[in-house]
Amino acid sequence: MQKMRVGIGYDVHRLVENRKLILGGVEIPYHLGLLGHSDADVLTHAIVDAILGAAALGDIGTHFPDTDARYNGMDSFVFLRDTALKVTACGYRIENIDSTVIAERPKLAPYISQMRQKLATTLEIAVAQVNVKATTAEELGVVGEGKAIVAHAIAALSAM
Ligand code: MG
Repeated sequence: MQKMRVGIGYDVHRLVENRKLILGGVEIPYHLGLLGHSDADVLTHAIVDAILGAAALGDIGTHFPDTDARYNGMDSFVFLRDTALKVTACGYRIENIDSTVIAERPKLAPYISQMRQKLATTLEIAVAQVNVKATTAEELGVVGEGKAIVAHAIAALSAM
């Protein structure tokens, strides 16, 4: 088995009314929320895909299909926990996660440390192994118009 492996993750969800805004497992007060089959936590979805990618285990849609009624409104941390268990079962340890959330609004800075804490706890790694960055789209495109939130993530795994 290769010693070090990396994976990338990307996700986008539309911002709509009458939905909660949950990012990195943290509920953020805002008048719009992300639309999706699960809780639509776009950051957690990107991180799940990065971890699965690093282990060459496919993607979130394969493991947790949005056609499966069991995942309706599902807390995405269930996917995150399950993903951590899958890669551990394959003999990998998560070394670190880095991520970027691109959102025009709301301001995410006050919630970043709580997101890192929650992600680290669920992945059973240290907070220093999980980074979350936030930026805007400079009012450009659908993200810049406040219609969607995008997340990118990268994960490094090592063979145990
Ligand atoms: Mg998604």
